Amino acid sequence: MAKMTENSTQPGDNLVPAYERVLLKMSGESFCRSGESGISMAEVTTISEQIKRVVESGVQLAIVCGGGNILRGKQFSEVSAAINPAQAHYMGMLATVINALALQNALENVGVSTRVQSAIRMEGVAEPFIRRRCVRHLEKGRVVILAAGTGSPFVTTDTAAALRSREIEANVLLKATKVDGVYAEDPVKNPHAVRYTDITFQDVLTQNLQVMDAQAIHHCKEHGIPIVVFNFQKEGNIERAIAGERVGTRVVTSIDEAS
Ligand code: UDP
Repeated sequence: MAKMTENSTQPGDNLVPAYERVLLKMSGESFCRSGESGISMAEVTTISEQIKRVVESGVQLAIVCGGGNILRGKQFSEVSAAINPAQAHYMGMLATVINALALQNALENVGVSTRVQSAIRMEGVAEPFIRRRCVRHLEKGRVVILAAGTGSPFVTTDTAAALRSREIEANVLLKATKVDGVYAEDPVKNPHAVRYTDITFQDVLTQNLQVMDAQAIHHCKEHGIPIVVFNFQKEGNIERAIAGERVGTRVVTSIDEAS
């Protein structure tokens, strides 16, 4: 566990990406104000402006959208016995499509070229997810917004993000959250909780740290895809993460590899 170094990149600095191809996981909470649900276009626009600067640096960017700001299948079926659990998960996947369309609109408003690809076919609003076509869009400088998770119920968009990272051969999976990284304890309950700079996949699993769901961690571990967990609400953090600077927490195979 190394100590955090100071961030040096300021918003607006010329960004030199450390990666060629990046998968950004945006949870549903990125789409709404803290403590609220639904969609705040003001929040989505703020993120879109950061994304625009990142894309202008030449990095290829795919984004997996969560849907928890609208509906999470497990929570919904647990409180509503009248809904079939699988059906509730499909509703959750559709929630991610709503977010994807909001993000597409916000990105195009700031001049970023995009495509939405959905794991559930819905030709009227999105292309189907086709791996080779997705990669082609990325090579052309388009941001590809990946909606509807994996298309299968009972998993989360974290798992979808891990799987898609592998499929499109992303160099890193960036997990945008509202906390500054991975902590040894819940930082809300213990304000003195230690934040890790680097941690291994194995330690995340052994300590049951709430980074991403275990399936997603296992997948990244198996394929050596590093994860960076960081607070996207701090201006410039997406750029810092893409520049490979010390931001948030890096989850890696071994700590030596991270330093
Ligand atoms: N979901 C699913 N299959 C997938 C991805 C997502 O069934 O491959 C459903 C699941 O019910 C999940 C919901 O979609 O709760 C919204 O995604 P998630 O909870 O991962 O959103 P986030 O926590 O990132 O906001």
